[in-house]
Amino acid sequence: MNASRTLLVTGGSRGIGAATCVLAAERGWDVAVNFARDQPAAERVAAAVRARGRRALVLQADVGDDTAVRAMFEALDRAWGPRLGGLVNNAGVVDVAARVDQMDAARLDRMFRTNVLGSFACAREALRRMSTRHGGAGGAIVNLSSAAARLGAPGQYVDYAAAKGAIDVFTMGLAREVATEGVRINAVRPGIIDTDIHASGGQPERVRQMAPLVPMQRAGTAEEVAAAIVWLLSDEASYTTGSVIDVTGGR
Ligand code: NAP
Repeated sequence: MNASRTLLVTGGSRGIGAATCVLAAERGWDVAVNFARDQPAAERVAAAVRARGRRALVLQADVGDDTAVRAMFEALDRAWGPRLGGLVNNAGVVDVAARVDQMDAARLDRMFRTNVLGSFACAREALRRMSTRHGGAGGAIVNLSSAAARLGAPGQYVDYAAAKGAIDVFTMGLAREVATEGVRINAVRPGIIDTDIHASGGQPERVRQMAPLVPMQRAGTAEEVAAAIVWLLSDEASYTTGSVIDVTGGR
């Protein structure tokens, strides 16, 4: 059995997820583009995938809603069959800068539900379709961590950093759990990347402000992160599992 060339990218409508969808299409993947709110943006990414000669599907789901995640995978099964070759757990959120002693329960719930529980739920559904233990043909999962998992993000969002720390451990543990089942699990840890996420956290100038702190003296691009993700998905990374790759300009 050959692993399928179908890929699901969560949060594929913008930023790193969108760049991953487009590069994956260029490398021969059919791409299901998940989004939460912005359907027109997801449709534009799907059009870019089709323009590269691959199939595209647009799937709305809040990854933090377990029922919605299961429904999304069932919709994918109906459209393209139950074979899935790749999953990128990219959907993620930050929040406005705050100290831990200012964080309320609603903020913490959203932070961990979206960034951690969403990745667990999507990986669970993907494994049920990929793992040889479940009759699948193998595959690869790439999780999006953050350099914040190493730095802690004090005074900004320790909650986000802790959620990404959980993603690092999730990656290491799950990789070993399924290592004999044809599924590789890895993570990419981006640094300061020029996307809309900073404005969504109330800091539209963050990329410009932080660039001097990066050894390479610039922010990264979504495409530079996508290159690492798509390599980890590929057969070129056939002996790489449980790895967390920094894409941080040296930070
Ligand atoms: P972004 O530009 O803010 O895009 C976020 C994407 O996630 C959008 O497509 C959004 O879709 C989707 N999304 C948000 N909440 C969702 C939910 N609950 N369910 C499904 N989709 C959801 O973010 P980005 O900068 O590309 O970041 C992508 C990943 O890289 C995240 O995990 C982030 O933590 C990580 N990362 C980013 C940086 C950076 O500097 N940019 C650094 C380190 C790590 P809608 O627009 O439709 O809601």
